[in-house]
Amino acid sequence: MPDLIVTINGPGGTGKSTVSRTVAARAGLPHLDTGAFYRAATLAVLEAGVDPEDPTAVESLVAELDMSQEQGRMFLGDRDVSDEIRGEAVTSAVSAVSAYPGVRACLVEMQRGWIVDHRGGGVVEGRDIGSVVFPAAHIKVYLDATPEVRASRRATEMGEGYDEVLEDLNRRDHLDSTRPASPLLVPDGAVVIDTSSLSFDQVVERILDLIGSRS
Ligand code: C5P
Repeated sequence: MPDLIVTINGPGGTGKSTVSRTVAARAGLPHLDTGAFYRAATLAVLEAGVDPEDPTAVESLVAELDMSQEQGRMFLGDRDVSDEIRGEAVTSAVSAVSAYPGVRACLVEMQRGWIVDHRGGGVVEGRDIGSVVFPAAHIKVYLDATPEVRASRRATEMGEGYDEVLEDLNRRDHLDSTRPASPLLVPDGAVVIDTSSLSFDQVVERILDLIGSRS
């Protein structure tokens, strides 16, 4: 299915990444994690000593970045930054960096290019994928869950305290859904799956059913 685009949107802690990776592997499609692009851009900003709250400086630095993603690994130039982009400093600055329209324009272009390079198809996950990056995608999914369920999943996954994780998720949800540029929303035509009371396998099967019903 080389030209099939499946978009998976939703806030953090809904299982978006693991679900997307598994669906991609089972459907024989490449997988793109767009959050990793925003995280890599944020890492570059922090390493360059640029203030994440300074839009002009951030946008001009990001415009010069060479970013790529292959086999689930994220690269800045030749450097594999997949582990560093998960650190606390990046996580707390990423929503500010990703709110700038100039940053989004660059990264959206890279994400569209990635699909072209991968024979026009893939499972693409993020916040604005079904709404802005690929509004004409064949299948659009929006994963959701209550903040408490999302925080508890993420705290277990990262080995961090529940209260801090809940606070960070609420802060990022607020920033991501209220920013003027490409806010997090349910895209037109998306199937909403509330994962609060579903198992991982049930979520994957629902999406594979959507893919299967198309062929
Ligand atoms: O999914 P992940 O937690 O790695 O995303 C990190 C951040 O990147 C999000 O909180 C959001 O601010 C930003 N992001 C975005 N648009 C996307 C993917 C991620 O703004 N398509």
